[in-house]
Amino acid sequence: MRKDREYNDGFTHKGMRKILVDTLRDKGITDEMVLDAINSIPRHFFLESAFEKIAYENRAFPISADQTISHPYTVAYQTQLLQIKKGDKVLEIGTGSIYQTTILAALGAQWVYTIERQKKLFDEQKEYYHFRKQYPNIKFFYGDGFKGLPTYAPFDKILITAAAPFVPPLLVEQLKPGGLMVIPVDEGDAQRMMRITKNLDGTLNEELFEEFSFVPMLQGKNV
Ligand code: SAH
Repeated sequence: MRKDREYNDGFTHKGMRKILVDTLRDKGITDEMVLDAINSIPRHFFLESAFEKIAYENRAFPISADQTISHPYTVAYQTQLLQIKKGDKVLEIGTGSIYQTTILAALGAQWVYTIERQKKLFDEQKEYYHFRKQYPNIKFFYGDGFKGLPTYAPFDKILITAAAPFVPPLLVEQLKPGGLMVIPVDEGDAQRMMRITKNLDGTLNEELFEEFSFVPMLQGKNV
């Protein structure tokens, strides 16, 4: 969220969003709830004003601290795999621009806990006041996502939005039996999208999907 601008969601923005939704549908996103959420959230609010006119192209953009807002296709893809249900308690690793976080909240998650390791990005949540009333169920944390949030665990859904070198064991622990985790796991040049299901008996199932390219998930916090 940027302080340096007027927040205006006009006819042109809405039109561009509709075209983006059609593009995502053509690329294979089928979950209408996810497409509705993308249609309703002004992505340009989460970018610097210089990118406003191109905010609805299916591409990533730089945000603070040398990080990126994920492609809309990536956001839609991960969210679709996560199957958010009303009342879910969700943990997101990598708050970044807060765009993905807002999509999760818009889908009816009861709580969205989101962790960011970059202090500069974490501090930008103070500019989230446009949405704070609408989404009081988002809780922001500055910390290391490898550790998760043991105090608030277990979670129905866990989403990792950075390239994980491995599946963090503490996050698996914090997943509820019956819960789902979506995580891009590093394979060198690209990451393989993985969905982990924790069965009711505590055993895990892994499913592999398309390749993506994320910024790295790093250990520790950055001041
Ligand atoms: N969901 C965000 C993605 C931002 S990019 C968006 O669409 O805007 C990934 C983010 O993960 C970056 O902001 C990066 O700083 C953060 N990140 C990387 N490793 C992390 C970790 N260990 N804990 C928390 N955040 C992490």
